[in-house]
Parts: sequence; structure tokens; C-alpha cells
Amino acid sequence: MYFIRTVTVAPKLPDKISRLGELARNLWFSWNPQAQELFRRINSSLWEEVKHNPVCFLLNVSQDQLERVAKSESFLLLYNQVMEDLNQYMTAQTWFNRQYPEHNNHVIAYFSAEFGVHESHPTYSGGLGLLAGDHCKSASDLGLPFVGVGLLYKNGYFTQRINREGWQEAHYPYLNFYQMPITPVTHPDGSTLYVPVELPGRTVYLKIWQMRVGRVHVYLLDADVTRNNMADRALTGQLYGGDRETRICQEILLGIGGVRVLRALNIHPLAWHINEGHAAFLLIERIRELVQAGVPVNAAVEAVRAGTLFTTHTPVPAGHDVFSAEMIDKYFNHLYSQLNMEREDFLALGWDDEQKVFNMTLLALRLSSYCNGVSKLHGQVTRQMFRRFYPGIPMEEIPISSITNGVHIGSWLAPELQELFDRYLEADWRQNCCNRQAWEQVSAIPAEELWEVHCRLKEKMIRIARDNLRGQRLRNQEPALRIREVEQYLDPRILTIGFARRFATYKRANLLLRDKERLARLVSDPVRPIQIIFAGKAHPADRLGQELIKQIYELTNQEPFKGRVVLLEDYDIALARSLLQGVDVWLNTPRRPLEASGTSGQKAAVNGVIHCSILDGWWPEAYDGENGFAVGETREYHDEETQDRDDAYSLFALLEETIIPMYYDRDQKGIPRAWIELMKRSLQTIPPFFNTERMVKEYCQQFYVPAIERNLHLSRNNYEPARHLAAFKERLKENWPRVAITSVKAGDTQAMGVGEPLPIEAVVQLGSLSPEDVTVEIVYGRLDEKCFDSFEHMPGAFCLINANGQLCNINKTAMTVTGQTPEGTYLYRGNLILPQGTVGYTVRVRPANGDFAHIFELPLVAWAPHF
Ligand SMILES: *Cc1c(COP(=O)(O)O)cnc(C)c1O
Repeated sequence: MYFIRTVTVAPKLPDKISRLGELARNLWFSWNPQAQELFRRINSSLWEEVKHNPVCFLLNVSQDQLERVAKSESFLLLYNQVMEDLNQYMTAQTWFNRQYPEHNNHVIAYFSAEFGVHESHPTYSGGLGLLAGDHCKSASDLGLPFVGVGLLYKNGYFTQRINREGWQEAHYPYLNFYQMPITPVTHPDGSTLYVPVELPGRTVYLKIWQMRVGRVHVYLLDADVTRNNMADRALTGQLYGGDRETRICQEILLGIGGVRVLRALNIHPLAWHINEGHAAFLLIERIRELVQAGVPVNAAVEAVRAGTLFTTHTPVPAGHDVFSAEMIDKYFNHLYSQLNMEREDFLALGWDDEQKVFNMTLLALRLSSYCNGVSKLHGQVTRQMFRRFYPGIPMEEIPISSITNGVHIGSWLAPELQELFDRYLEADWRQNCCNRQAWEQVSAIPAEELWEVHCRLKEKMIRIARDNLRGQRLRNQEPALRIREVEQYLDPRILTIGFARRFATYKRANLLLRDKERLARLVSDPVRPIQIIFAGKAHPADRLGQELIKQIYELTNQEPFKGRVVLLEDYDIALARSLLQGVDVWLNTPRRPLEASGTSGQKAAVNGVIHCSILDGWWPEAYDGENGFAVGETREYHDEETQDRDDAYSLFALLEETIIPMYYDRDQKGIPRAWIELMKRSLQTIPPFFNTERMVKEYCQQFYVPAIERNLHLSRNNYEPARHLAAFKERLKENWPRVAITSVKAGDTQAMGVGEPLPIEAVVQLGSLSPEDVTVEIVYGRLDEKCFDSFEHMPGAFCLINANGQLCNINKTAMTVTGQTPEGTYLYRGNLILPQGTVGYTVRVRPANGDFAHIFELPLVAWAPHF
């Protein structure tokens, strides 16, 4: 055995194009077609070969080629333009600068286990990572003082190959980080910066890599360094790989290591965004820091909570990350004393009493001021799922809200369409992407031109699909005939449906396979056939997902599906882009309500591709009856088989009766007028709202800025307000059992008109609490038969059940204390100003504190008895 050192020698960039290296290391290039065009012009086949990885490209391009382009007038023109655009982008005034000048230096940290920014950086598995990537891009566009923190996986997620039997094979490439668009972070003297994290019996050292996404920096943690033992070096090997032990270690590295990395870089965020529970241990580290600095633990908890936002993405209880008490002990018992906490109190932070496990989602939920789901429907499902932790609190008042996901338009919109928009939309449509009026202009695009561009994208996509299939067959050493056959597969004139995403079973890739005969008739129709393109990875441990892949693969080899149904391998961002820009219909068939949001349909809509989806995730908010297609009903099912059967029926009927006739209805020039109207309607209504610019602005307004301000406030005067808040909460919890409304009297409601006051009196027992500690209020709302306590009734119809019935669309009017009885109870009065119609009303007491982030930050309430 001998040791070999490696050295990588890159060609030298000629002076005139010396900034290509800088461009290659800023993922800004990934949403700038012209920047990519630069690399393509130097050597287009190399650009494809390196999978659009500009760093790898510059290492492999020949010196001659660089010298040649450095002398080309037209290349230099483009180069100078791109560099000017980059300068402009990096230095211009931004939305955040203008809106929040006082917060320009108040950093927002965003922690996520995956970041899907570009295909050259394969550290994502699906929607969660893509969302994180698009979030960073928009945070950069808007100029937020924003940093991302994640892990850098040596093997990425995995690359997928489909073998001759149709089984997925997972391959784990050994990524060379020096050939990716990231750079190691060093001390000023150039030596490597290592950040230590304790694991049982040892310390693991993390190396830090910096990924630039426009103005934003994402710090990625890498345990694969020689200082660590072999087992620890593998901890950052795979995304979602390994067993529970690996998972908890990864989450400790991400959460605790992530905080330490920021400290090592002298970055002190005031708002902390936990993107899904994986990163929730960051809370523990922040509490530890404060306790070590002398802040009492309960005040530390309040201060940490003040600056924290948690976004949950998982609508199924089984999807949440949990650990046993033994495992928590094993990894955290050395911290209990540092935190000044008893073991029980520590466990209680994430303990789920029903399941007897430590739940990362609960940890995050309990220690965050703000919490949200990722679509309106998902917000409701999440409130429903966690309502047991908010006993007595009306569903609509449970402090979990929602911000609907979006996509980064510049990253997903085909350059060919961008050119078309440049010609027919207002010149500043890119800056106005949240403005519906800007998109209205789509109506000005001549149908022929929109269709021509769409057909071009479709042909390009079909070429890529055939290449993908040819690649599979070559590698699988299939007969020459089978390899040649691929050239006849897929026809650009045929209605093309795309279905590509993770092969999780709830996404039901096989919904159309429930009735193969009916599907066979559709694909082999002599006049109006359809074709379907499938792609997606199944998690390597998900056997059922892999069987789905095999099932579809087998179909693709049977008549009459051959050539009309295809399965592409290794779905990644690049393949997603081609499909989402080139198919006619994007199909989405999750088992409702399991798709928290979904975003691929939004990417499709940006490209004039029609979304055809179950009314799940974001789609109920977007679908207006004329901008796409809705499959199935919004009812609740208790039986999967029935649900699948009904949804498959609905989808077949929709295809046969609506989608296919509409697509093939052509005028004498061969243009599908009605279809193009649908494309335009989709372009006008979906991108203006379902984009990450709108989304990140909402995060800023609703969460980041309030979190920053609350954090600053609670930590003032050596955390005095945090100490007060903690003491307040403890006192309230202790005394709450004695709080009660003993009687309520309401005036006579006979013959009262709209707008008149109905006087209400309540006698309230507060025990040793005082009226300053609570709010007593009249609570009123609609009493509605249809207003059930369920996620079924979209949109906006939330509901509460208390002893007296169901109350929705709750309003509140505070009551004032008017006296005290000899027994020590308090008399409260208030007026209910009567709205029109039937109102339900009652009285309640809840804790009140000006420092609460939400009225139910302390989820205690006492309702009036029957009156
Ligand atoms: C957008 C995207 C996803 C998410 O797709 P959904 O259909 O929303 O699950 C997954 N993978 C890739 C590569 C994507 O681009």
C-alpha cells in the first residue's frame, strides 16, 4: 500500500475572460441562460458531458479553446454583457434594502438537510430540496441578509439506473467537491477551518464548504476529513441513507454543527428558519450557548423561541423523524448538565406521550414562535394533526399557519419562452413576476408563435428522452435492434403527458395502470393517441416504490404501450427542466391530502404546460376551472382502494372526454386554438402567485422580520424580557387549573337589529392570578351546518367545536373588568355588536402577555360553561 497525493491543474484563463472562474462558482449562472450560453459556446459537447457543471468544465476545457474564444469578438461581447449583468445583480438596490433598511445586517439563517439548486450539485432528493434551492435564489434576488446551512453529501443522494429487468439500481458516485461549484472555507492564513461536534466518546470535525447562490451563501458541512475515523467520515456520505444512528448523527452535525459553523464564521443570525424537522437540534445548541453564558434555562428557551420559525412539510404522522429515549440519552446525556436541565425536562422538549418517542417535529414546534405548513390545505391538515397539543383551542386558532410554496421562475422558465415574453410582455416583466397585470399580457402573444415555441421545446425534450433511453439500453447491453428502436419512440405530434417525481407510493405513479385496457385504447387510438413519459427515483429502502418502477418498466415493453409509454432513468434537475418545458400535460396524482404542496406543476405552468392534478397541495388554491384540470373530488376517503378506484375513473373520464378532444381540436392551420387559450389562462393565473418571490416576501413579512424584532426585544437588558416571559408562563401554567368562568349573563336578544350592542356579563374566577394576566373576551362566529371540523371544506371554512356547538370564522371582543366580588371573583362586561344572521357566541379566558408571538403561545384557555 502506498499513498498517492493528487493535484489538479486547470488551464489558465486568458486575461480577457479571467472572470469565468468567478462566474463558475456562483450558481447565479444556473438561472441565467446567457451565462450558460458562454460555456456552451466554448465547447458545447463538453458542457453536456460535465452535466452543466462549470467548475468541472473549466478544469477540462483545453487551453486552445479558451485562447480561441478570448479572441472572438462575439464571444467577448456576450462575456462582457454577462459580467456586467452579474455586477449589476450583486450590487443593485434590492427589495429588502428598501423595505427594511433597519434590518440590513440582521442575518436570517435557513437550515435544511437538502438544497436542490442545480444539477451540478446533487444534494437533494426531491421537492423539499428543490424548494430550499429556489428559496435561496429568491432570497438572493430580493436581497435578504440570508445564509443557508446544510450538509455536503459525498455520495449525493444517488444516481439511478434502470436495469434490464426494470429494477432500479442505486449508484453512489464519489463526488469530488473540488470539481463542484463550491469552495472550501479557510482561516485567513489559508489553513482549513474545522468545526468540532461531540458525539458519544469522540469529537467529529467538520470542514465547511461555501456555495454561492447569487448574493446568498450556503454553508455545507463535510465530515469526510482525515481527522475523523472512517465511520464518522461516512456520516455525511448519503442523504437519507443509513440507519437511525446515522440519522441522529447527521441531524446533530446539521443542527449543532451548523450553529457552530456560523459562530466560527462570526455570523450571528437573529432569525432562524428550520426547514423540516431534520435541523431542529439547532435549538438545543442555541439554548446551550445561552445557558453557558449565564442565562437561566427557561429564559434561554424563550429567547431562542423568539427568533425561530419552523416549516413542516409532512402531512402524515409516520413521516416525522423520531428517536427513542435511549438514543436521545446516548447522544445528549452529556448535555443535560450543561443545559441545567433534568433528563425528563430535556426529553419533554420533543416527547410524544402517545407514541413514546422523541419527535423532531414536536421539538421544533414547541421551540418556535412561528410555524407553518406549505399550502392552505396542508396548514389545515397540520393543525388537525397536532390539535391534541392544543386542547380546547379552536382549530383555526392553533398557531400553525401556512405559506404556499412557489418556484423560482428564472430557473424553470425555458429561455425560448423568455425570449417570447421579452417580445410581447412589458420590458420589466421579470421584475414584476408577482404582478398579475404583467402576466395578463400573455394574451398578446399570437397563438401561432406560442405554439411554435412549445413544439420546439417538445421536440427538444423528445430528443433528450430518446438519448436517455438509448443510454439505458446501451449500458444494459441490449441487442442493436432494441437500441435502434428508440429512434422511433415518442412522436412530437402526439399529446404527451409527463409524470416525474419521487416514486413514493402515495404519489400513485401507477394510477393509470389500474385499467390497462382502457389505457391501451388511449395510447393506440389511430387518430387521437396519447403518450406518457415517466421518470423518478424511489428511495433505496422503499421496496414498494421500486416495484412501481418495475411495473411501469414492464408496461413500456408490452404492445401497444411500446414507444408510447416510456420510463426515463436518473431523474434530476436537468431532466426535470426538459420534461417540464416540453410535455403538453403535467400529471399529478397524489393520494389526497398527502401532498403537502408539490411544486413541479408550478414549474410546468410557468412553461405553458397544463397541470392536471388531484385537488391536493397547492392545486386547490390555483385551480379556477379554466386554467388546468382537476382530477377526482375533494371528499375525504377512509379506504385507499376506493379512493384510488374513484380517482382513476375520474382521470380516465377527464382524458377521454375533455383533454384529448381539446388537444386535437385544430383549425385549418393545425393550431389547437382552445388548447392555446388554456395555456394562456394558465400562464396568466399561476406564475404570478406560485413563485418563490411572493413566497419569500411572505416569509419576510410574516415571520423573519417579526422574529428578528422579537428576538432583539426579548434579549434586551441581559434577557430581562425573556426572563419575565418565562416566569409569566410558569406562573400561568401553575395557576391555570383554578381559572374558570363561573357564570355568564347576556341581555335580551329579542327584537335587536344589526349593529346594536348585546351586553354580556361574566363572573370569572382567577385564583391567584390577576386581571392583568389574562384576557377575557366574547368569542363569536358563524354557526354553520356545513362547517365541519375537517380539512374537507376548502377554502377558508375552519371550525371549532366547544361544548356549545361549532363556531367558525371567529371574531373576538375584549371584555373589561368592572368589579370584584367578596369571594374574590371578578366581574367582566362587554358588548357584542351584533352582525347579521345567526351568530354563535360564548366567553373565554386566556393568558395575555404583550410579548406573546401568538394569542395561544401558551396554549391555555377556559371556556364559559353552558349559559
Ligand atoms: C420540482 C422537483 C421535484 C418536486 O416535484 P413534486 O412533483 O412537487 O413532488 C422533485 N424533483 C425534482 C428534480 C424537481 O425539479
